Amino acid sequence: MNAQLINGKSISDSIREELRYEVELLRQKGVTPGLVVILVGEDPASQVYVRNKAKACEQLGYYSEVIKIPAETTQDELLRVIEQYNKQANIHGILVQLPLPKHIEEKAIIDAISVEKDVDGFHPVSVGNLMIGDDALLPCTPSGVIELLKRTGNHPSGKHAVVIGRSNIVGKPVSMLLLRENATVTICHSRTPNLPEMARQADILIVAVGVAKLVKKEWIKPGAVVIDVGMNRLPDGKLCGDVDYDDVLETAGWVTPVPGGVGPMTITMLMANTLKSARRFSQ
Ligand code: NAP
Repeated sequence: MNAQLINGKSISDSIREELRYEVELLRQKGVTPGLVVILVGEDPASQVYVRNKAKACEQLGYYSEVIKIPAETTQDELLRVIEQYNKQANIHGILVQLPLPKHIEEKAIIDAISVEKDVDGFHPVSVGNLMIGDDALLPCTPSGVIELLKRTGNHPSGKHAVVIGRSNIVGKPVSMLLLRENATVTICHSRTPNLPEMARQADILIVAVGVAKLVKKEWIKPGAVVIDVGMNRLPDGKLCGDVDYDDVLETAGWVTPVPGGVGPMTITMLMANTLKSARRFSQ
């Protein structure tokens, strides 16, 4: 069998087309979605992410602000900045780029963002709403994974999904979303024995670990859908996923490449969240 490629770039492009149309409708009502991205310090990878988010806003006609704050900023100063944007009416989404410098407590910052503007979906109330199935702004990478499945005709309903990784950012929320979509979900992590055997039971295998090329063809049930969330930098500078892409191609039914799979979906889902928030504020 030769796996079909799940092209995250083209799926992301078509979602952005849909968003552009909806943004236009909202603008006709006098509302422009607004996003502020706050960057503390000068981490080079974070600078790239922030630039890409601002670019996406520009392409879709959003209002955006990028706030760059020196690394020495105190937690209280950062909290005051967030408070200001919680109140600012033309801003519908607030994103604080992680990681933060060590002297700032991440949780205190995430908790301070107004739940209504929590476009990253990391606030405990957003997480709780996801858990109990209430309407919420959903975390971007996990909701991007669900879109990839649905838009390739691989609806999770009735399938056995195995998720490797249990982080708060990817593993746990994607498991909750899969459950909400009526999959039967198994969550694995670093203490799971017989990992290849567990993975081999998956109709849908989601890998969010951070270990380059961990998953080999022996881990894949023939025809399974394999979604690789991992983004690892190899010594030669190239990006690679947690799945050994070339190795699994013969066994899997569908597979995401890295780059070009899950990655492009994350910012697109951030844009979708900002639009959703703007729509709520406009009602
Ligand atoms: P994380 O917080 O480090 O969590 C990694 C998870 O993998 C943990 O639950 C850990 O288990 C588990 N794990 C580690 N080594 C393992 C092993 N050998 N076997 C089985 N499980 C193992 O990472 P994360 O934030 O979820 O990110 C995971 C990957 O996704 C990274 O490569 C990251 O760069 C990438 N990522 C990509 C995007 C995107 O937009 N494409 C977004 C976010 C993250 P324990 O809990 O037992 O320690």
